[in-house]
Amino acid sequence: MRQPKFIFITGGVLSSLGKGLAAASIAALMESRGLRVTLQKLDPYINVDPGTMNPLQHGEVFVTDDGAETDLDLGHYERFTHVCMSKKNNFTSGSIYYSVITKERRGDYLGGTVQVIPHITDEIKSCIRGAVDDFDLMIVEIGGTVGDIESLPFLEAIRQFRNDVGRENVLYIHVTLVPYMKTSGEVKTKPTQHSVKELRGIGIQPDILLCRTEKNLSTDIKAKLAHFCNVEPDGVITAIDVESIYEVPIQFHQEGLDEKILRLLNIWTRTPVLDPWEQLIHRLKEPAYQVRIAIVGKYIDLTESYKSLNEALVHGGAAHSTRVLLDYVDSENVEKEGGEALIEGADAILIPGGFGQRGVEGKIKAITYARENRVPFLGICLGMQLATVEFARNIAGMEKAHSMEFDKHTPYPVIYLMREWFDYKNNQTIRRDENSDFGGTMRLGAYPCVLEPQTFASQAYQQPEISERHRHRYEFNNEFRDILAGHGLRFSGLSPDRNLVEIIEIPDHPWFLGCQFHPEFKSRPMEPHPLFKAFVGKALEEARKKRPEDFQKECIC
Ligand code: GLN
Repeated sequence: MRQPKFIFITGGVLSSLGKGLAAASIAALMESRGLRVTLQKLDPYINVDPGTMNPLQHGEVFVTDDGAETDLDLGHYERFTHVCMSKKNNFTSGSIYYSVITKERRGDYLGGTVQVIPHITDEIKSCIRGAVDDFDLMIVEIGGTVGDIESLPFLEAIRQFRNDVGRENVLYIHVTLVPYMKTSGEVKTKPTQHSVKELRGIGIQPDILLCRTEKNLSTDIKAKLAHFCNVEPDGVITAIDVESIYEVPIQFHQEGLDEKILRLLNIWTRTPVLDPWEQLIHRLKEPAYQVRIAIVGKYIDLTESYKSLNEALVHGGAAHSTRVLLDYVDSENVEKEGGEALIEGADAILIPGGFGQRGVEGKIKAITYARENRVPFLGICLGMQLATVEFARNIAGMEKAHSMEFDKHTPYPVIYLMREWFDYKNNQTIRRDENSDFGGTMRLGAYPCVLEPQTFASQAYQQPEISERHRHRYEFNNEFRDILAGHGLRFSGLSPDRNLVEIIEIPDHPWFLGCQFHPEFKSRPMEPHPLFKAFVGKALEEARKKRPEDFQKECIC
C-alpha cells in the first residue's frame, strides 16, 4: 500500500488567525494538482462535540451528511475542495477522553494505569490514521493556540506521529501573526519567535511558517524569521490579508507554498489548474449588480454564527454576477412597533435556523411583511417552521397557532415533536417526547426529499429527488396538511414515504419557500446551491423592479 502523506497545522500567538482557511486553501491547491486530499480538525476543548455549544462562543455548528455536529472549519474544508466530511473528520479532547474512559470501564486495559501518554496520545493517533482512507494527503488542523494547556496531548501525538510514519511523510506548518506597528512603521517578528520556541520546546520544529500580516514581508524580514525560527527562507510564507477568502489559494500559490510542500514531502504532481479560482475571484470582485438581503435572526452580532449561510449567499450572488449585501436584523427589534422599517429596503428576506423563544414573534412579523409585500422569502429550518405558523395564523385563521417548541398548549400545534417516526437512514423507529435527552433526539444529517414538479423547488433544483442536511427536533404536523393546503400552502418537497414535510411554498407569491433542512451546508463557490442561486436571482429581479436606474448603467459597482 502507498504511504499517505500528512500535514499538521498548528497556530501560534493568538486565535482567529484563519488556520481553518489556511488548511482548506492548501487542500484546494493540492487538489488542483490532482492529488486526493482529505482534512481533519482536532479540537482541544472538553465538549464531546460542539452541538450543545452557544453559537456566540463557538460560531456555527456545521453538520455533515452522516449527521455529525462539527466545528465550522469543516465547512471551509468542504467548500474549498470536493471532500465530503464525516464523523471521522472532527475529534475533540472530550470525544478522545470519552472513548478512552469507555475502554477503561470495559476492562480493555487489563488493569493497567491509564495515562495521557500513551493512552490518550495513542487514541489521537488512531483517530488520525482512521480518517486517511485511500487519500494521498491528509491535512490535520490542531485547534487552539500553541501554549494552551488543553492542546498538549494533541501536540505530543503529532510529534510522535512523524516518528511512526517516517520523517519524509510528515510536515508541520505553523500559522502565526507578524503584526505591523504603526508607530514605528515596521513589522515585528518577536511574537512568532516566541511561539516557535514554545513549539520546539514540545519537540516540534515547524517546516513552514504561514505569517498572517497586513503588510508584505520583505526578503529581510523573511530571512530574519527563517534564521530565528530555524526554517528555510523559502519556508516563510506571507499570508497577507485579502478581500475575499477565496483569494487565499491563489495568494499561497504566488508565494510558492504548494511547490515548497511538494518538495519537502517529495511528491510529484502536475502543475495546478487554478483557472476556476481566478474566474471565481473575478466574479466576486467585479460584480455587475448588487442586492440587499435582510437576515432576521438572533445571533446577529457575530456573523461566525451564520458562516455557511453567509458563504452560500455569496455563492448564490456569484452565480448572477451580483454582490449580496447582508443586513443582519435583530428579530427582537423587528418585533417592536414600527419594526418593519428595518426590513423595508431589502430586496429579499431570509429567516435562518435557530433555537429558543427569543425574537420568535419578530421573525413571524418579518414573514408577514415578506408575504404581504411579495418580497422574495427563504425560510430555513426554524424559518420554515415559523412560515408555517404565520400562514396558519394569518391565512388559515388559526389564531394562536404555534410550534410546540414555544407554546406547549397552542390550540393549533402546526409544528410539533413527532412521537414516533421511522428513520430509514438508520433503519430504526425513533420514539421521543419533551423529556427525551436533549442531545440525542435531533434529526441530523442527510435525508432524501422528493420534489413535486412545477414548483419553485423543482425549478431551482432541476431534478426530482435531492438529499439535504438536517438539524432539528420539531417537524411539520401532518394533521394540518390538508387544511393548510386548502388555504393555498404548497408542499413541494416530502420524504420518500411522504410522511415528513421538507419544503413548503406559497405559489401565489413571486418566490416564497421554506425548507426544513439547511441548504447552506451544501453550497460550494464553484457549485452554488440551487436554492440560494434561485433566491438571489429573485432578489435581483426585485431590485431591478425597484431601482431600474441601477440596471440601466449596466454596472453599478
Ligand atoms: N428549533 C427548531 C427545531 O429544533 C429548528 C431548529 C433549526 O432551525 N435548526 O426543530
